[in-house]
Amino acid sequence: MKVPDLESTVSLDFIRERVAEDVKASKNGGRVHTRFPPEPNGYLHIGHAKSICLNFGVAADYNGLCNLRFDDTNPSKETVEFEESIQRDVRWLGFDWDDRMYYASDYSEQLYQYSVQLIKDGNAYVDSLSADEIREYRGTLTQPGKNSPYRNRSVKENLDLFERMRAGEFEDGTHVLRAKIDMASPNINMRDPVLFRIMNVPHYRQGSKWVIYPMYDYAHPISDAIENITHSLCTLEFEDHRPLYDWCLEKLPVPSRPVQIEFARLNLSYTVLSKRKLLTLVTEGLVNGWDDPRMPTLSGLRRRGYTPEAIRNFCDSIGVAKRDAIVDVAQLEHAIRDDLNKRSQRVMAVLRPLRVVIENYPEGQTEELDAVNNPEDANAGTRKVPFSRVLYIEQEDFRENPPKQFFRLAPGREVRLRYAYFITCTQVVKDAAGNVAELRCTYDPATRGGDSPDGRSPKATLHWVSAAHAVPAEARLYDRLFNEERPDNDSRINPSSLEVVGSCQVEPSLKSAKPGDRFQFERIGYFCVDLDSKPGALVFNRTVTLRDTWAKIEKSLKK
Ligand code: ATP
Ligand code: MG
Repeated sequence: MKVPDLESTVSLDFIRERVAEDVKASKNGGRVHTRFPPEPNGYLHIGHAKSICLNFGVAADYNGLCNLRFDDTNPSKETVEFEESIQRDVRWLGFDWDDRMYYASDYSEQLYQYSVQLIKDGNAYVDSLSADEIREYRGTLTQPGKNSPYRNRSVKENLDLFERMRAGEFEDGTHVLRAKIDMASPNINMRDPVLFRIMNVPHYRQGSKWVIYPMYDYAHPISDAIENITHSLCTLEFEDHRPLYDWCLEKLPVPSRPVQIEFARLNLSYTVLSKRKLLTLVTEGLVNGWDDPRMPTLSGLRRRGYTPEAIRNFCDSIGVAKRDAIVDVAQLEHAIRDDLNKRSQRVMAVLRPLRVVIENYPEGQTEELDAVNNPEDANAGTRKVPFSRVLYIEQEDFRENPPKQFFRLAPGREVRLRYAYFITCTQVVKDAAGNVAELRCTYDPATRGGDSPDGRSPKATLHWVSAAHAVPAEARLYDRLFNEERPDNDSRINPSSLEVVGSCQVEPSLKSAKPGDRFQFERIGYFCVDLDSKPGALVFNRTVTLRDTWAKIEKSLKK
């Protein structure tokens, strides 16, 4: 494990710099302990991956520990399904919390007792204003707030009311426990923030044990302190909450003194990372669940064919900054291409088949040709691919009237079939509607394996499958879920974000491919076998395209 130090030439991000200083100064005895604190109210997304990689990564860099803590203090939105998905996704990303999985809700008694302490010390009171009144009294950024008429209740009365809040004597919204700080503070978060509220809602783990629930700003610093967290890393929107974080720790006899450090959250172009929006997409049926391969959730990316390594590399590559910025989604796509290029087996698959009959190839003959499994991996070896008289090629690899820069198959033209032979198109057969139904070609037997003894080299090499041996399959081609570069909560999804191509033909080696297996379909893109796939009814998800040079040319021609 690498242990960066300040003297090293490796440039550290500002969080690691800060942690390195603390370690060097033997703060907390040189200990580093972080936590990843998701609320179990949705599935994790790529933004959470940044936080996971940072929290577990910083701990690992300094031989420290990282806890998984469920911030389960809002029972109205939390479920065991969400919790289980979070555990699965953190593990899948490659991180391990050992036996350190905690729940903020398990600290309820301690949080309650600390509140009693705050009341006794004159640092908290029970307020009986309504939610609307509390908002009104709070003031604005330019105007100070006003004290609640209940602010000066006696300690005795506060203790009595708070105990009765816990005992379930009151309706939701009738009373809250507030910190007694300063209604005129320039920082609105310090204007007597609410610490506990009444919620008569059963909790997915605690049942109806509690009818009062702590607010995040109160529960979080205390949970961190209870777990002996040294560095509490959170996103920038909590910067203005830091004085409250510190206030809680100062006023209470907590077992340790963590510090909160804020970093910029991940924003990705063409992507929404708001849990609320993602939840809406799922509940309104606009996508097929949280793991829809178009979703930026970790379960969606996994189903799409992303690897944990690619996501971790992406998180490394974007770095950690103090200012919000938008990362281009192309950077995420680059990370997965880079990883899949190294690891995925190449195969031939034809998405939209066009029948080709090789007229001078003997009927009933089959040859087994050698194909390279992965040119990036010398150990990946070769496989046999059957060749016969009737083949399928891609419809878009043929043009009856080829434009100038189209080098693929056309009448009278010769192309190379990958790992096989050179073929020349001799005749175009059309159906009754005038569409190209079939091509008649000849092959040159001297070009077996794809090389010509006379040094002739066609400009295009096409992929193909043997019609008699190919396996039918479905391909699901995904595109961006949003067409807007900066989608918001009102953005509509891209109606062409999923195209199902039902009549693909893939090489026979794919017959026994299992869900999760990944391949590069030569010249088309990276694909993985979907969960819906079954023997005899193969389904492939397109993870990401290859860079298609022709598409680029065609685009520039249109300009
Ligand atoms: P909510 O707004 O519902 O609280 P959240 O995205 O903050 O949603 P949490 O479950 O509270 O969800 O997040 C867990 C951790 O992940 C938090 O520490 C949060 O700061 C971090 N996190 C969430 N979104 C991002 C993001 N886009 N980039 C980096 N970190 C994130
Ligand atoms: Mg949050």
